Amino acid sequence: MGKTLQAVRGMNDILPDQTSAWQHLEGVLRDVVQAYGYREIRLPLVEKTELFRRSIGAVTDIVEKEMYTFDDRNGDSLTLRPEGTAGCVRACMEHGMLHNQVQRLWYAGPMFRHERPQQGRYRQFYQIGVEAFGMSDPDIDAEMIFMTARMWRSLDLKDVTLQINSLGTAAARATYKTALVEYLRGCFAELDADSQRRLDSNPMRILDSKNPAMEAVIREAPKLPDYLDEESRVHFAALRAFLDDAGIAYAVNPRLVRGLDYYSKTVFEWVTGKLGAQGTVCAGGRFDGLVEYLGGRATPAIGFALGLERLIALLQVDAVDLPAHNPHVYLVLGGEQGIRRGMVFAGELRDALTGLRLETNCGNGSFKSQFKRADRSGAAIALVIGDDEAAQAQVTLKPLRGEGDQQVLPQQDIASHLGQWLGLQLNR
Ligand code: ATP
Ligand code: MG
Repeated sequence: MGKTLQAVRGMNDILPDQTSAWQHLEGVLRDVVQAYGYREIRLPLVEKTELFRRSIGAVTDIVEKEMYTFDDRNGDSLTLRPEGTAGCVRACMEHGMLHNQVQRLWYAGPMFRHERPQQGRYRQFYQIGVEAFGMSDPDIDAEMIFMTARMWRSLDLKDVTLQINSLGTAAARATYKTALVEYLRGCFAELDADSQRRLDSNPMRILDSKNPAMEAVIREAPKLPDYLDEESRVHFAALRAFLDDAGIAYAVNPRLVRGLDYYSKTVFEWVTGKLGAQGTVCAGGRFDGLVEYLGGRATPAIGFALGLERLIALLQVDAVDLPAHNPHVYLVLGGEQGIRRGMVFAGELRDALTGLRLETNCGNGSFKSQFKRADRSGAAIALVIGDDEAAQAQVTLKPLRGEGDQQVLPQQDIASHLGQWLGLQLNR
């Protein structure tokens, strides 16, 4: 082969050895969101560029430098979605899902951002996103956080900690922003280049700077909580009371911000110290202004997104036991009659036992080589049908992991036998 073909940098293949962990993760997360009555929405991977410019904001990192944007054959500017909220809000508005009703929605799939690839940061990465529309009280904020706490419990993940903050109403934040900009201008020379640039465009993002040299400047900056309005204070206090009632520990982090004006009140993140610099596994918050900002009727909304690669990494670091996906049974076949009977028999066994994973040997081969494949498949049991077994309606059963002796059983008894052995339900 000439030059080797390779995947695009920052876009990963998820290989079969890894997909059982992914399926486990996705299955648990789906069960949790559905336990709260959230319904799945499936959205396009591509949207008009304008949607992201308006919803995420033209002066954010994502829109300024991370989007995969291209012109299609009609000359329309399209973008691979960098996140899911914009498309979800667009779909809800387009299909009239927001008037006089509440929506609890979730979606899953890949997102695309042209970032510098590193551990926990990729150019195609997977999120599960959850959004709720039409509810302005803090109970839904609490429900979102309860749901995420239940996810960590169900996944057996420890050491993810909750940080919360309130951004206040848009009016309160405008006052705060003025004070912040005035302070930052006073120490302009100490700001790094990024922060100097953001001072005009998106000053609150400066608080989120990961540059250690900015630490002192940020520490002394005016604090958002000192500027909160009464309505937001009450909302935040109620959220904290719900969390206390549920026994969910949290830290209030006054530096947890979102730069854009349509974010308000609650923001939260779940963070772990076990993944180095990319420690945020879940980020969420209220965006009461977004629907109206995009031209709809004012609709309260709150949501969060989970980064699946980071959760997979955390499952690995924590060495969480994952359910195996290798076959229970490998079916070894020999002789013309054995193979013909075996192909049918495999289907009969799958009909009889819900959840059975049975791999049939295809392509013949000596018994020796078939047993090698059986071993490699990870199956616990080999079943053998050769011409003799076929003629006598029997099967030879051989344990592959050293439990018990080889035995010959009537084909009609094998399903109940396996059912007991494997703990699977027998269908009659
Ligand atoms: P960061 O500050 O780490 O860049 P962000 O604010 O851009 O995060 P969000 O847009 O809030 O992240 O996305 C929600 C979650 O999606 C993050 O908390 C993270 O778990 C995950 N995520 C975001 N960007 C990436 C990426 N490039 N690769 C892998 N996961 C990502
Ligand atoms: Mg980012």
